[in-house]
Amino acid sequence: MKLPVRIHCVLAPLVIVLCLLLPEGLPRAVLNTLIGFACAGLVVLGVHRNRPRGAAAWWLIAAGVGAWTLGDALYSYLELVLGISPFPSVADVSYLAAYPLLTAALWSFVRSRTGGRDREGVIDTAIISIGFALLSWIFLMQPTLADGSATVPTRVLAALYPVGDVLLLALLVRLFTSSGARSASFRLLGAGVVLMLVADSVYQVQSLDGVYSPVLDAGWLASYACIAAAALHPSMRRLTELEPSAGVAFGRGRLLALMFASLLSPGTMVLQLCLGLSLEPWAVALSSVVLFVLVVVRMSGLLARVQEQSAQLAALARTDALTGLPNRRSGDAELHRLQQEAVAEGRPLAVAVLDLDRFKSFNDTFGHPAGDRLLSQAALAWTAGLDGTGAVLARWGGEEFLVVLPDRDLAGAAAVVDALRARTPLGQTFSAGVAQWDRTETLAALVARTDEALYEAKHAGRDRVVTAGAVPAAQQPVPPRPSQQQPSPRAAAEPPAQPVA
Ligand code: GH3
Ligand code: MG
Ligand code: MG
Repeated sequence: MKLPVRIHCVLAPLVIVLCLLLPEGLPRAVLNTLIGFACAGLVVLGVHRNRPRGAAAWWLIAAGVGAWTLGDALYSYLELVLGISPFPSVADVSYLAAYPLLTAALWSFVRSRTGGRDREGVIDTAIISIGFALLSWIFLMQPTLADGSATVPTRVLAALYPVGDVLLLALLVRLFTSSGARSASFRLLGAGVVLMLVADSVYQVQSLDGVYSPVLDAGWLASYACIAAAALHPSMRRLTELEPSAGVAFGRGRLLALMFASLLSPGTMVLQLCLGLSLEPWAVALSSVVLFVLVVVRMSGLLARVQEQSAQLAALARTDALTGLPNRRSGDAELHRLQQEAVAEGRPLAVAVLDLDRFKSFNDTFGHPAGDRLLSQAALAWTAGLDGTGAVLARWGGEEFLVVLPDRDLAGAAAVVDALRARTPLGQTFSAGVAQWDRTETLAALVARTDEALYEAKHAGRDRVVTAGAVPAAQQPVPPRPSQQQPSPRAAAEPPAQPVA
């Protein structure tokens, strides 16, 4: 139900303009106060209508707007009715009470949106807030504290306003760096707090020069109106919703914000130099040190995440998704690695290719998902069977598997592979070809010989392991001549393969 927020969005600007058109004095002050309290009341109404999960944050918002407005009312009473304008006064107690209330409200929003876990968001908040805190220190806090015309307690009290604004800004930045929905209500609340901060800061800059432009009231009134609209809008319910999986991407907007904030510190110094203002070397130096450390911590976190993700991707790229075995690419790499070891240590190396028998009809009979299950069960069973042999099992493709067997001669390798037959699940059988590396042939040639032995095993009736014969002399590497004809099938030139079983 959006009717209340629509009415509010039409009425609020009209009433604010009306307020500004009134002559300065009691009528205007009264309307100003009425608008403020009405907006606090509308926040309460919004909570009542929309029934959000973490309503406490909204009660704090209403209390904050109410406290600020009460400060206005008290100040106007002192100034316009009693004709005095003391500083500090009871109005300042009320104004200053608004800061912890609003800050606690934003903190509460952040807690319910993030569940309290977001280290990167906290660092980004610190980077941005420190940049603005430096500005506030140089242009607001420090001049306020240095004002020789006031007593020290008065100066400290006056400096609490910019301190409160910096805190409020920090919590607003934290809210904007949290994950979760950027709903209409979220944006309205953000706009409300930004307007409040801008109006406050302009007011403080002006009051350092003893100036006050009444048009500033429009800033605060618009701020209350935005906050009230945020509470009335139905999307306010999403402001306190936890979205755990939705990590905030490190987008260009955030990068620019962090860059801008990091440059505030040296930028301020450049500005002071250009304008011939007195420098604040300690503030600039200290904030720069803290900013640099935070940026480095943030970047190292990003780097660690990238490294972790690339390790995960590399592992994924090596692994067959169905069986969890090394995939073909990784099987190939293992074959190369074990060959290098065999060369270095002068040990034998054998290779086998396993192919499930009549797997197509298994699929046709029991369905493809059952076929998938069989493939992964077979992978598990064979892995267990190869345990302790130093052999590497990889999924070579479809229902074919490669086994690289270091330290085995042909007969030993064939025996290891033959022992796997009994482990194949669900009574399924496989045929396999085994070949021993002759120490001169390429790995492609070795696998081709293994394939031929597998072909022999299929041809001989399946459910068996066949060893490839030695490479015939004619097959030893000979530089091919371009005019040479396609060689005759290798099987015809080789001695017959030897069945093991
Ligand atoms: P042969 O004994 O001659 O090896 O017969 P076959 O049916 O096993 O051989 P063929 O090459 O004709 O068929 C292989 C079958 O393996 C076809 C395909 O449906 C099945 N297959 C390949 N990859 C997968 C897979 O990932 N999951 C399942 N369920 N089946 C697969
Ligand atoms: Mg096959
Ligand atoms: Mg097959």
